[in-house]
Amino acid sequence: MSIRLRLTGLYTGLMAVALVLFSFLLYNVQQWTFTQAVDSGLQNVAEKVAIHFRSYNRLPDMNSLGDKSTFVLVRTANSVIDKSSNVLGMFPLPDAARNGTETYTTERDLSGETYRLYTMPMYTVGFAPVYVQVADNLNTLDIAADRVRLPLGIGTTVFVALAAIAVWFVSGRAIEPIEKVATAAEMIGESADLSLRVPYQGPEDEVGRLVATFNDMLDQLQGMYGRLAASIDTQQRFVADASHELRTPLTIIRGNIDYLQRAKVLDPEALADMASESERLSRMVDELLTMARADAGQEMQLQPLMLGPLVGEACRKAQAMPHTVAFQTELPEALDLIAVKGNGEWLTRMLLILIDNAFKYTPSGSVTVRAGRQGDGVVVQVQDTGMGISREDLPHVFERFYRADRARARGGAGLGLAIAQWAATTHHGRLTVESELGKGSTFTLWLPIFRGEA
Ligand code: ADP
Repeated sequence: MSIRLRLTGLYTGLMAVALVLFSFLLYNVQQWTFTQAVDSGLQNVAEKVAIHFRSYNRLPDMNSLGDKSTFVLVRTANSVIDKSSNVLGMFPLPDAARNGTETYTTERDLSGETYRLYTMPMYTVGFAPVYVQVADNLNTLDIAADRVRLPLGIGTTVFVALAAIAVWFVSGRAIEPIEKVATAAEMIGESADLSLRVPYQGPEDEVGRLVATFNDMLDQLQGMYGRLAASIDTQQRFVADASHELRTPLTIIRGNIDYLQRAKVLDPEALADMASESERLSRMVDELLTMARADAGQEMQLQPLMLGPLVGEACRKAQAMPHTVAFQTELPEALDLIAVKGNGEWLTRMLLILIDNAFKYTPSGSVTVRAGRQGDGVVVQVQDTGMGISREDLPHVFERFYRADRARARGGAGLGLAIAQWAATTHHGRLTVESELGKGSTFTLWLPIFRGEA
């Protein structure tokens, strides 16, 4: 059963109960008030008879005492002493009157009509008590009751019906936005379209909050879904590019093996080719593994360390790498006093990637590593006078598998800078590049200085 129907049923039911109770109360109060008025009239007449008897020692004219409809009867328990001419018979004598108490009763069986009867013990003749009984027809009371009953009944029914209609409409309007939320949720479920929103222009009440929360939730879901889709897309591209990159050295190695099998001689050139391709393959697998671990959210242990010795050590290792250009370092002594929070192995690896690239892409001239303070941080720069990077390539060099066309022949997989940038970000630093085609490039690693206790 819908909430709207339940609300309408509940409120209509409550309204009906309240109105019926109210009508019942009103009717009874009115009946009681009328009866009270009749009773005091009857008592008046009875007292007139008693006072007259006490004053004149005889009964008054029974027909002159009340309205035409008023019966007056003076009697003992068994016989009539005097009565008004309209009295048709004897009313029964109530027990309370026999015991000497004046009393009211309502009689319904006299000529099929309803009478209100007042019985008052008046005096005693010998041992026989004499009573005065005054009765009046309650027809007028019944007519008045009928007059009230009908409008009350009709009024109650009409009000209950109106209340049901009003509650039906009001609850319909109140529930409309909730229905819209439900419909939108159904549509989203069916179409998987997370760009749908629930339109709402009403006040900021509970329903308004529900709609806002629902729309916020959709925003978040849409964002999450977008990021998930982008991440799946990246992963798929990563796997496709990786397979593609791995195939080239494998093809070369296989070609050389075929050649050696056919030639049946150990051609040193083919062996050298295989050795260098195997090395390239293992470097690539190593880089791919690093990226995959980075994507899987690998934690990097960071601890306070002095930057000077670390950069010096990396430069010493670089010196041993194959290079054809001059290699210079400009490392101020003050660098030995600067600490960063980092991972020594990763910082060295990052610097070696930058220096290796500088060596690879600098046919002549020099490669310089310099370091110094900059603002709250420290920068390490690797500057070369090599081939430089074109404006078109520059924004992409940190992307995975990106290689400028000129560089393809030099054998990298295009993962080195992507790995270096991930490591820089993990160190809360940044890696940037400035370059001019034909003049050279400068890669700058910025890291925040560690000021705590080393
Ligand atoms: P790769 O293994 O190809 O060197 P990287 O991610 O290290 O991959 O570099 C991406 C591309 O950026 C390189 O292919 C090259 O085109 C360009 N690049 C990187 N360093 C330099 C540099 N010092 N001078 C000129 N080009 C560079």
